[in-house]
Amino acid sequence: MHDLFDLRGRVAIVTGGNGGIGLGMARGLAAAGARVVVAARNQDKSRAAVAELEKLGGAGALALAVDVADEASVAALVRGTVERCGRLDVLVNNAGINIRKPAHELSLAEWHQVLETNLTSAFLCSRAAYAPMKAQGGGKIVNIGSMLSIFGAGFAPAYGASKGGIVQLTRSLASAWARDNIQVNAVLPGWIDTELTQTARRQIPGLNESVLRRTPAGRWGEIDDMAGVAVFLAGRASDFVTGTAIPVDGGYSTQG
Ligand code: NDP
Repeated sequence: MHDLFDLRGRVAIVTGGNGGIGLGMARGLAAAGARVVVAARNQDKSRAAVAELEKLGGAGALALAVDVADEASVAALVRGTVERCGRLDVLVNNAGINIRKPAHELSLAEWHQVLETNLTSAFLCSRAAYAPMKAQGGGKIVNIGSMLSIFGAGFAPAYGASKGGIVQLTRSLASAWARDNIQVNAVLPGWIDTELTQTARRQIPGLNESVLRRTPAGRWGEIDDMAGVAVFLAGRASDFVTGTAIPVDGGYSTQG
């Protein structure tokens, strides 16, 4: 039982792994022994993340540039990972953006940008990861949803639609690929202190106070709060867990 959470020998792609929740998850995976591929656009940030992950002792990290909304770029990411690391065991579909406007102010281009970055990306990356995972006998896919996978939010209609879609995509891939020993699960973070939510705090008056009031734990999540669930869903401990959506939210979703 001692290796339930041991990720030595495993290779994990984390999209958006150069900051925020992705970096918190990448830290957990690296500390458990995985070789982490930090996959994002900003290569300065990715290099800094790799330097940080290498200090955690994993099997060495590397950065590969990707635009997750671009089919060819995603294919190159998965190809490059298998060429450089020899395998692909774990895919964390974390990259995401938000455009905070009510539906009547949102352009079609903005709608597409959010849906493609948050939802189509998870389809593209998962589809590209399927062949190498199946060929090696299994794999783990972790999709990042949100409290807005569950609740509506007038200020973020495209984001909410993308995150609701993430949960249904997760269930569909989980049932399609269970016989290939590929487990597909979603994580639904509560309010986590990152660049994304620092922008939200500036844009939405009173957000900080309402998060503190509404979260039973009485605080914002930190990116390291996301590490444990990533290790669980990436390792042997979760081999019979698939199609779930796990809130990591300090109890936020227990409040109606
Ligand atoms: P950040 O803004 O801190 O990080 C977003 C990450 O996504 C960055 O690493 C960014 O890297 C990457 N990214 C964005 N667009 C692309 C793209 N087209 N191609 C590749 N990478 C991209 O946000 P968070 O850490 O807060 O969010 C991470 C995920 O967690 C998102 O899916 C978000 O919706 C979700 N989430 C966050 C919550 C929170 O409270 N923070 C709550 C619930 C869900 P780069 O710019 O270098 O490409």
